[in-house]
Amino acid sequence: MVRTRFTEEFGVRYPLVQGGMQWVGRAPLVAAVANAGALGFLTALTQPTPDELRAEIARCRELTDQPFGVNLTILPTINPPPYAEYRQAIIDSGVRIVETAGSNPAEHLQHFHAHGIKVIHKCTSVRHAVKAQSLGVDAVSIDGFECAGHPGEDDIPGLVLIPAAADRITVPMLASGGFADGRGLVAALALGADGISMGTRWMATVESGIHEKVKQRLVEAEERDTQLIFRQLRNTARVADNEVSREVVRRLNEGAAFEEVRDLVAGARGVKVYETGDVEHGIWSAGMVQTLIRDIPTCAELVERIIGEAGAVIRERLASALEPAAPVGA
Ligand code: NAD
Repeated sequence: MVRTRFTEEFGVRYPLVQGGMQWVGRAPLVAAVANAGALGFLTALTQPTPDELRAEIARCRELTDQPFGVNLTILPTINPPPYAEYRQAIIDSGVRIVETAGSNPAEHLQHFHAHGIKVIHKCTSVRHAVKAQSLGVDAVSIDGFECAGHPGEDDIPGLVLIPAAADRITVPMLASGGFADGRGLVAALALGADGISMGTRWMATVESGIHEKVKQRLVEAEERDTQLIFRQLRNTARVADNEVSREVVRRLNEGAAFEEVRDLVAGARGVKVYETGDVEHGIWSAGMVQTLIRDIPTCAELVERIIGEAGAVIRERLASALEPAAPVGA
């Protein structure tokens, strides 16, 4: 058992979260995470319309009686979605926890709070975490440079970012980016976090709906097998290394505008990777932590393993470091 302020305040058995993942955060995965005792988030924009998000929330409820949430990410998009309508679908569906990400949550926060919904804001810098806290979010998730998806533009890895944020944050704080196992959970707790949020690790589970070949690619891939695209556009995204991501980096390095890479990077193309298993077809998200992924467990196996490992690290490795040293010459 690992209990923290996060588990207490959010009513979750373990301090483990499955954060928003475009095209991946769907009901079967989120329900499996919830049934395993962790907190999963459906990704709102994965659903083509707000009504389909309502249906997805209902489908998730049929699969679990445990708490789960919905992620609402606000970033540049090729076709801007009707955010307020997605927000209303979340509110109408009686969801109790929301993860916001991508930009200042102020506008959405007031609506969610008016309906008693707790908001965890995910951000990639100490200043944004402090700002979100001052706006009244219920928790922050601080996302290090290691992460998949959008790491921001500051390039601060978790080892510095997490304790730097912990020194300024008084609400419960999750650490994200680069976590996959019990060692990571203990490290995050040591650095001042109240739990961890993972993305890439959950992609390689039995219940994640992506193609087996993509899961296998995550098992094979190492820490160097990611690319940072959109640096020049100040919308950096860490994605899997493949022919398409390398071509996008090449074109943008040569001064191309977004329009000139648009067809390559479109989410509508990237989602085909997850559907067909052709890992070279488009852009798909993966974090450096893929190097620590060596199998494809069920969510329940993964959660029990992480909690078991964390307990062992605390009881054995850390506790033994406190034992008195043997006398010299003994
Ligand atoms: P999309 O097809 O609209 O765009 C593909 C990528 O291009 C995204 O990374 C997007 O941020 C970027 N982009 C779009 N227009 C841009 C512009 N004018 N300048 C710079 N970059 C631009 O995106 P999608 O794959 O259909 O995803 C829909 C939304 O969900 C996007 O905002 C995306 O960033 C976001 N998203 C959410 C999560 C999550 O976990 N919630 C993860 C990844 C992406």
